[in-house]
Amino acid sequence: MVADTPVRQASLREHNLALVLRQVATSPQPISRASIAGITGLTRATVSALVEDLIAGKLVCEVEPARRAGAGRPANGLRLAGYGPAGLGLEVNVDYLAACVVDLTGEVRHHRVCRADQRPCPPEQVLAALAELATEATGAAAAQGLTIAGAALAVPGLVTDRGLVRLAPNLGWRDVDVPEILAGMPTLGDIRVGVDNEANLAALGELHASHAASFIYVSGEIGIGAGIVLDGRLFRGARGFSGELGHVTVHPAGLPCRCGARGCLEQYAGQETILRSAGLPGLSGTDGQTMADRIAELAGEGHPGLLAALEEAGTALGVAAAGVINLLDIDTVVLGGIYAPAAAWLRVHVEREIRERVLTAEWAPVTVRPSALGPEAALLGAAGSVVRAIRDAPARWLTTTARLTGRPTSNGPRSAG
Ligand SMILES: [Zn+2]
Repeated sequence: MVADTPVRQASLREHNLALVLRQVATSPQPISRASIAGITGLTRATVSALVEDLIAGKLVCEVEPARRAGAGRPANGLRLAGYGPAGLGLEVNVDYLAACVVDLTGEVRHHRVCRADQRPCPPEQVLAALAELATEATGAAAAQGLTIAGAALAVPGLVTDRGLVRLAPNLGWRDVDVPEILAGMPTLGDIRVGVDNEANLAALGELHASHAASFIYVSGEIGIGAGIVLDGRLFRGARGFSGELGHVTVHPAGLPCRCGARGCLEQYAGQETILRSAGLPGLSGTDGQTMADRIAELAGEGHPGLLAALEEAGTALGVAAAGVINLLDIDTVVLGGIYAPAAAWLRVHVEREIRERVLTAEWAPVTVRPSALGPEAALLGAAGSVVRAIRDAPARWLTTTARLTGRPTSNGPRSAG
């Protein structure tokens, strides 16, 4: 089909840069320029010019081919560079703050968690402590030759598309303007921080790690959130507030919830409920071991109170998940947060409730499994979202780096393809 309007030369270059980078990113082995030309239909000269730009922007690097006897000189292969731009992932949760750096290849290059109850602190104080973690992470990245290209912050609450936290009931936050508060913190420099709901960021991370097309990612922390992925896309809802699974009713006349309603899932399957019913109310993570790992360790040792609490939590979770599956015909439930390492004990109860409550369960089975990214999917998903934005639109990053270094970028027909 012929387009109504001519494609701008610059748009064509942007499109082709992304196309070439995608071939490098998705190839299981280092890929040659000739192979990229063959796959994409671009000329070899065009591919070479685009690759030069990607190399100059530290997005792609050349690797020496393996020596093969008598096969002539093989072409150099290309792979993603692990020494250029990186994503900074940040997380504010009820009982911890965290930061991590992920490079373009997806490798975690820095990771730090600070365990402390955030509820007694005002948002400004929490965000100031987070900014310190971010500064430390930026320094660690720079020491490894990486440049932080942007940051994403995961928050357990309702977040508007401009980063305003409307409500985070477990943190006690209401209408907290996170971008504005962070903008007043000089330590962050000019790093742009996007803010999103933690379960949404985790679900996006899971989507790219597991390639499942339709699933509900359930994030178990002190609060419970969910990220809903339908046909390979995050479903945010009409106003961007989807996924509040923690406030789905499982017992209409049940326990009062912090949200003001009664009988919400959070009151039966939240981290604090699990620990309280297990007789372990003071249990906490340590610097060497996450809360999730401690729960899994005790369950593995057969702690009777904890096993009973996980049964109660898994049952309530299964009831809520069954409602979602009946409504949306989702085939996979992903257990994240503290649920990920505890999946071995939760799964059987979640599956039982789904089997008994989902109309189609008999011939359309539902998989219940732990998150591919483990208990820190939100943090990794946050950093990954920055990296994926660069991989999807490398031209934007190249323009930024050219501006920083004063290096011209090719823009003419030579590299436009
Ligand atoms: Zn509630």
